[in-house]
Amino acid sequence: MARKKSTVEEALSLRKKSIWEQVTDRQREEIESISREYMDFISGAKTERMVTGEFVTILREKGFKHIDDVGKWRAGTRVYMTNRGKNVACAVLGKAPLEEGANLVASHSDSPRLDLKQNPLYEDADTRLALFKTHYYGGIKKYQWVNIPLSIHGTVVLSDGRTIDIHIGEGGEDPVFTICDLLPHLYRKKQADRKLQEGITGEELNVLLASQPHQEDKTKKKVKLWVLDHLHEKYGMVEEDFVSSEFEVVPAGRARDVGFDRSMIGAYGQDDRICAFTSVRALTEVKIPGRTSIALVVDKEEIGSDGPTSIKSRFVEEVYSRLLELKDPDCPDRMIRRALSNTKAISSDVNGAVNPTFKDVHEMQNAAKLGWGICLTKYTGSGGKYSSNDASAEFMGLIRKVLNDAKVPWQTGELGKVDEGGGGTIAKFLAELNMDVVDAGPALISMHSPMEISSKADVWSAYNAYRAFYEMVP
Ligand code: MN
Ligand code: MN
Repeated sequence: MARKKSTVEEALSLRKKSIWEQVTDRQREEIESISREYMDFISGAKTERMVTGEFVTILREKGFKHIDDVGKWRAGTRVYMTNRGKNVACAVLGKAPLEEGANLVASHSDSPRLDLKQNPLYEDADTRLALFKTHYYGGIKKYQWVNIPLSIHGTVVLSDGRTIDIHIGEGGEDPVFTICDLLPHLYRKKQADRKLQEGITGEELNVLLASQPHQEDKTKKKVKLWVLDHLHEKYGMVEEDFVSSEFEVVPAGRARDVGFDRSMIGAYGQDDRICAFTSVRALTEVKIPGRTSIALVVDKEEIGSDGPTSIKSRFVEEVYSRLLELKDPDCPDRMIRRALSNTKAISSDVNGAVNPTFKDVHEMQNAAKLGWGICLTKYTGSGGKYSSNDASAEFMGLIRKVLNDAKVPWQTGELGKVDEGGGGTIAKFLAELNMDVVDAGPALISMHSPMEISSKADVWSAYNAYRAFYEMVP
């Protein structure tokens, strides 16, 4: 007969511990296996467009069909659709009608980075070096982006209307780019007394491109011409084409194991591709759910969720409408609203894990720790919970039960001490659709930096949490 827990042990049940203190050998293998997959994914998905491309490949391999190719609603059918090459929605159709609600996990695929300006290319007259001017995207600490290898990824619409994709700096033989900081020998007057936020300014984030002049032309800007000639020869681009392009400059290179024990992952773009990957990958394991399971990946979260590829666009409603039409081509609008209202949602986004060197920005009893499992974040925002979706006790209760029943290790945490700072997610925009929603995702150290740190144990925890949530019957 099993020993009955003492009431004291029950009362102390919130005492959590690191996943590494409780896993079996078999679970360690699962952790390594899903983490390897994830590391391959983020190494090849450096922009929101690349994320979309990788997901379409994965989904098709796992038997998902584009919604245009799906005839009628049948439970277990696997469908996907995309939006402007930047959003992905995928679903496994449930036994219950969609009006009764879906289980939705929504993440974002955009990450902080440097975008090229619309007229980016210049040659410095004194040094004869060619550079790109950039405009940073999202919340970066600018000084972190100098003196590291960078790659460039772009989509360009040429003057004849053709669209081309350009990727330079990830392949083994590819060159990389960089932003040059000032040498310490000469930085005392110019830079040493600047505040950290201005250590490198936005207008100083210029990307080094070339130093050799074009041979034949008479122009003064010979190095700039060399670059333009190269782009023209290789891609058919002319200078004006930058106006109709989106180029993103990001840290070059693959995700790496971190630590003697290889228990952590260092990579760019883990906010929020760690959630995008685990939520979509978990969906591919769902067979025939009771309620329809949906994974949604949106863009533009890092700049406030505006624009037609953000969570604020009507793409979510379009997805629901297309799914409902599989059952009834004349499905009325009120059915879409009902389906959205009855949906239970996880806003899958990362939280900030405690960095042992900067512990005092956190209140330790309510801070997320690396390797302690997926973090339930009841509210985000700043100050007095401004701009936050504050999940209800009832919904927290439901999610907690789902995770406990599935034996998924989890923790709770808020982003820093009260009044220390703050941040938002897409949760409040899902809540505008009248969904129950809570934020849940792994916690990262060095969030928004060129090398964010996650725990492999948290990748595994998030993956299992989303799997359990998709199968949930509320
Ligand atoms: Mn995020
Ligand atoms: Mn972020």
